[in-house]
Amino acid sequence: LTGERGWVRFEEFPKQVAEDILPKPEAFEGAMFDTPSLGKLLAGWHEFSWDGDLAVLPPEVPKHLDSVVGEPALSTGAWSLDLRLDRKVHYSPYSNVVHSWLLSRRLRMTKTFNIRGKPRTDFDGGQDPLRRVSSGGLLTTFSSSDMPVLSVGMPTDEHAFRHALALEGAWAPDTIYPPAPKAAGVWLKPSDKGDYLRGLLGIFGGLASAANFLTHQFWRGPLEDWGCTSSATRTDVEALHKRLKAARPTGFYSGMDELLTVAQMLASQVRAMRMPRRTIAYSKLAEEWTKYRKEFWEKTPKDGDPSVDWDKREAETLDYCLNDLTAKTVLFQGLTVGCPNCRHDNWVPITELNGVMSCQICQHSIPAPMKVDWEFMINGFVQEALREHGLHAVVWALSNCRQNSRSSFFFEGPSDFWFSEPAHTRKADTDIDLSVVLDGRSYIFEVKTSWGLFPPRKQSDFIDLMKRILPDVGVVAIMEANKTKKAKLLADLTAALTGVETKVEIWTLDDFAFEDGPHLD
Ligand SMILES: [Zn+2]
Repeated sequence: LTGERGWVRFEEFPKQVAEDILPKPEAFEGAMFDTPSLGKLLAGWHEFSWDGDLAVLPPEVPKHLDSVVGEPALSTGAWSLDLRLDRKVHYSPYSNVVHSWLLSRRLRMTKTFNIRGKPRTDFDGGQDPLRRVSSGGLLTTFSSSDMPVLSVGMPTDEHAFRHALALEGAWAPDTIYPPAPKAAGVWLKPSDKGDYLRGLLGIFGGLASAANFLTHQFWRGPLEDWGCTSSATRTDVEALHKRLKAARPTGFYSGMDELLTVAQMLASQVRAMRMPRRTIAYSKLAEEWTKYRKEFWEKTPKDGDPSVDWDKREAETLDYCLNDLTAKTVLFQGLTVGCPNCRHDNWVPITELNGVMSCQICQHSIPAPMKVDWEFMINGFVQEALREHGLHAVVWALSNCRQNSRSSFFFEGPSDFWFSEPAHTRKADTDIDLSVVLDGRSYIFEVKTSWGLFPPRKQSDFIDLMKRILPDVGVVAIMEANKTKKAKLLADLTAALTGVETKVEIWTLDDFAFEDGPHLD
């Protein structure tokens, strides 16, 4: 169209056989559709920006229409617009990567984007153009010269997942052909656990900060001291398990697996009832941090500029981290001041310290201590979210998604899910720990703190849920290590899902270890 070429060039290549040219089967394992990313705009792509949730599109028409002169018939018809829309909330671990909306075809969300075309009349609200998901996960819609697409409104993640799991196809008439696929359920909403996750991420100011704290190996000890772990110690569980087996309760337990689960639950309960140590002194944290780094460097070869005092810098990251966590009210800084009169230990926050304080119980005057070793107490909400709701493992699973994300990651936290009506007046049929779209692939998660919390009964629930939703990947994430159990569970679940187009993955600490390094963020 842009002018005839006088020359056509040929090149000769040596004769090749198919095996030389075609990709090897292994190459397909990690293959991905290429989509333009920042700094790499393909020909024909236009960049534009917007504020808020409504992207107003620039009036672009395909380049080749420029060449059409005086022949209206050649310019009628529509063209497809592949939209790579940046997300407002993004979770990339790299500050120079902006995540965008890459959609999965399994979890149908395109209808949650409010796409508006030019109105036909003054009284018309605007066209609602067709949409689909492109091969690379982009939102594709269709535009034309006389009815251009004007704007795209973006959904919230909650709306997008609720639509995909419980609304898409819900009102499709049975009479149309081909029949529209039905939704997997009828209603999805954040569960109590989901509300706690929102609260937890809110306190931390986002997933990145929560993940940095909760998935660093160093904090595991202090978190246990602050009473944030529900996992009972192994010794407690073994002792209880032994006693339960000896008691041989009949009629209650179908197998030894369940007996172990009961032992774990009992031990956790007992642990929760024991008063956890409320505060940890700065001197103790600093001492543990020094020990931790010493052990780290004993197993890690050192390189780096010897003239820099790395040790001092690494030591200081604890202080920065504590400052940051207290600013976010994840931790509270203060002092325990004992009353010489009634022996009550008064917790005095840093903001309420005075030269002379009065006992909260007997009002006795207590002079301020002269030698100060700050103490840190964890926010009660954070403690409850982690201990009672198992959210430590959920943040760990999300952190793994985040670390593995390349250009897109969004999720909906723990939710209640109804398979059939009535949905608002009765208990949910099941719960989903995490619904995730990661680089355009859909994942449904079952997340557990320990192996004992995923007995055979839970496994069959998981299998049923996978068959119902058919995500690209079904993940069981267990925040413990055990390669043997992992291999067995993977084999069992894969066998149970033979013929179902959902891949099973088991995520454990064997492959997704906690961060182990001499810096705290
Ligand atoms: Zn007192």
